[in-house]
Amino acid sequence: MSTKLLPEVKTFLTAAPRPMYIGGQFVFAADGQTFDTHDPGTGETLASVAAGGAAEIDAAVAAAQKAFRGPQWSGLPANDRAVILHRLADQIQKHAAVLAQLESLDVGKPLAQAAGFDIPEASRAFRYFADLSVHTRRREPIALAGMDAYTVRAPYGACGFILPWNFPFLLLGWNLAPALAAGNTVVLKPAEDTPLSSLYFCQLAQEAGVPDGVINVVPGFGRTAGAALAKHSGLSRIAFTGSPEVGRLVGEASGRNLIPCKLELGGKGAAVVFDDVDIGKTADQLAAAVTLNCGQVCCTATRWLVQERIYDRFVDTVRDRLKQIHLGHGLDASTEMGPVVSEKQRQRVLGYLDQGVKQGATVVLEGGAAAPPQSPRGYFVKPALLAGAPDNVCAREEIFGPVAYLLKFKTENQAVELVNHSRYGLANSVWTADLARANRVAEALVAGNSWINAHNVFAYGLPYGGTNLSGFGGGVNGPQTLLDYLREQSVARPM
Ligand code: NAD
Repeated sequence: MSTKLLPEVKTFLTAAPRPMYIGGQFVFAADGQTFDTHDPGTGETLASVAAGGAAEIDAAVAAAQKAFRGPQWSGLPANDRAVILHRLADQIQKHAAVLAQLESLDVGKPLAQAAGFDIPEASRAFRYFADLSVHTRRREPIALAGMDAYTVRAPYGACGFILPWNFPFLLLGWNLAPALAAGNTVVLKPAEDTPLSSLYFCQLAQEAGVPDGVINVVPGFGRTAGAALAKHSGLSRIAFTGSPEVGRLVGEASGRNLIPCKLELGGKGAAVVFDDVDIGKTADQLAAAVTLNCGQVCCTATRWLVQERIYDRFVDTVRDRLKQIHLGHGLDASTEMGPVVSEKQRQRVLGYLDQGVKQGATVVLEGGAAAPPQSPRGYFVKPALLAGAPDNVCAREEIFGPVAYLLKFKTENQAVELVNHSRYGLANSVWTADLARANRVAEALVAGNSWINAHNVFAYGLPYGGTNLSGFGGGVNGPQTLLDYLREQSVARPM
């Protein structure tokens, strides 16, 4: 590792085990259970973490309910809550270097990505929703004859969040910020592979003056802590980001409890590349998209549809670019792509490559396991390119690694049909110099998000979410997201 660990990071990792945060207290599991989190760049243990179960989830939901009933959060004017959320964003910015190292170590992502994107974007989420909440009307008059009537918007109560391991801190910001700004209280169950930044965040919340019980974080496993949170009858809403398989379970549990549910699930994003593009620039951007976070990005471009006239030239160019990607530990300054998050995830990626080839895919760039000299024991995989029929498993299913599947197309209609054949509907992109065609195709692709001459486009104010197998419930990051966390109530007095 070329980057030296900050003293705060060393202390945080070694002051074992890391406690959970319930009702403003740093506590351990009643049964004393802990689990280890690992550095995917070395395979070594990073820290020991308290393992929450049903009892801790009960306590966290009770703390969130109590804090919601009290005057110190939901009862505050929006301005006062916004001041506290801005203080929390200040704390994140002040400790950004620590958070970035923790995130890089826990997920394996390059430090520059964590420091330049994940952490600052999470602090921006708190600022965006704090400001939006101040400018959101809580009371709307209704013009009706013979009646004094209006609607009020009020927070729901205790909201549950179950999050994945690929962008732990960014997704914490995207999810918790709108709920908190609306006046709800929250219980977060981070992914067992990557709990560290969420646990460090608890200290920052306390220092920022977020009242006790407003934010609760219970690390633990999916089948225990996750399942207990998903089915908890004390929640007023739940949001889940992760795989469609677990999303179904969370959806079922929320259905039983009759509470609103947001599901942000997997994807199989396509990039439709027409033959009027700048081949070099487009190849660079798609190579960057599929290697971002080692391909562990739900919305990234993993099916590349290329128009036949430029297919061969595009493939040669992008293959050359991908061959040059420098693999290494997240804390090495020269690293362009880190490891995948775990050995389990590496086996998933390798298994898909194997199955894809068995089903007849052509190997355009051979991927496979890698062992960079500085980090020989990390969970590394090389970028891979496959090509062939659209019904190949690697063209249909989410691999969640640095693997793209190439498809050749002739006409616009054929490209649209191929993209929409997927059961997923998260994000796609269109690449062309013809802007009329760009917008036409962007609108024809069935997904929550269509991007033009770019992939992975995020901004606060730009709604982001999925449809079909990629989820439902309103998404994140749009102005509407804040309203999702406010229930509407009508008040009427006949005159
Ligand atoms: P996962 O579904 O395995 O786990 C996600 C979370 O659910 C973890 O916290 C896990 O502990 C918990 N969990 C597991 N089993 C559970 C159960 N039975 N009950 C309740 N909770 C349970 O997903 P993952 O492997 O962590 O993440 C990868 C997936 O997440 C991919 O499919 C990816 O596309 C998706 N993802 C989607 C988005 C989006 O915005 N749409 C963003 C990031 C990741």
